[in-house]
Parts: sequence; structure tokens; C-alpha cells
Amino acid sequence: MIFYGTKGAHLKSEKVSGIKCPNCGEHTSHTVSIFGRYFYIYWIPIFPLTKKGVSECDNCKATFEPKEMSEQLRLKYNNVKSDTKTPLTYWIGSFIILSIIAFTFYSVAQHDKNVVEYISNPKKGDIVEYKPTEYYSTQKVIKVTTDSVFLSLNNYEIESKGYINKIDKVENYSNEFYGVTKEQYQKMFDEKLFIDVNR
Ligand SMILES: [Zn+2]
Repeated sequence: MIFYGTKGAHLKSEKVSGIKCPNCGEHTSHTVSIFGRYFYIYWIPIFPLTKKGVSECDNCKATFEPKEMSEQLRLKYNNVKSDTKTPLTYWIGSFIILSIIAFTFYSVAQHDKNVVEYISNPKKGDIVEYKPTEYYSTQKVIKVTTDSVFLSLNNYEIESKGYINKIDKVENYSNEFYGVTKEQYQKMFDEKLFIDVNR
């Protein structure tokens, strides 16, 4: 279940003076209070909603919503309201979500850039991801010479590419290995026989 909804908070109260009260008729001061609302998911504010407020007569304590205010009172109320800034914290959830998205894009782009380098310049310990059957598995680069790459096969397979790290354990790799030229190694990626490489 996702917990979401809206929540209000008091932002500001300010006294405005010399205004005739629509209730008691006194020329007196009124306290204008402004409240901000925000939309939240799991108690984290995502974005702000409308600002609202009320005024209270300091003499008779009658309160007025904007639609009940006199022209003069509403003018002052609107001034206070427009001077009340929406706190930036009301955007914190959107900021977090955007940061995660931006970071994910950056990581993916960075990984793609690294993979090009890893393939053209293989190193001992590189983990190659491939799909020998309907499942995923890995191969480990165990030796690199001037023109060849030597790989050892993982004895295990896993259903999801996302969990491939789980089978990448030293004891899972075969003691036997095979060698390919660096050109062949590159070609395996070009032909999608090898899917990805991590270092
Ligand atoms: Zn009053």
C-alpha cells in the first residue's frame, strides 16, 4: 500500500492594521495567517499545492476566509500571501526522484563508455556476461597475453540478468579454460554472443 495525500502547514502570520472589521465594524488590526499544502508520498513532500489563508480580527476574534473579506482586507491579505514564499522543502521528493533518474542515466552512460574500453583492452578478472541457454551466465578472463584472451566458464546459470552477480563466485568457475584472439574476443561482443563486461 502506498501512503500518499496532502498535508498543510502554517507558513506565516502577519498583522495588518487600520482595517474596518466586517463583523464588529471597528477600525483595527487583523492577523493574516497563510498555510501551505503539499502532496506527499510516504511522508515525503513531492510538490507544493495552493497556498491558502484566513484573517482574524484582533478586536472581536471573528475569522474570515478570503471570499468573506472586505475589499480592503482582501487586498492586504493578498499582499501577505504573495510575500509568503513556498518552502523549497515542499519539492524535496521531486528533487530526490530527479536525482535518482539523472544518476541512473549517468551510470548507464558511464558503464557503456567503460565497456568499450574493457572490450578493446581486456584485463585479468574481467567478468563477461553471456546467455549460453535461456539463462544467463558469466565467463571470467583469467589471463591476457599480447594477442590472446583466456576465459574460464561459470558452472552456474541464473534466470535474471539483474541477479547475475549472485553466481559470480570464485568457486563457481571451472578449472578449465579456453583461449581466443583479441579480435575474436571483440567479435563475440559485436555479434552479441557476449552481452556485457564488468570490471
Ligand atoms: Zn472585529
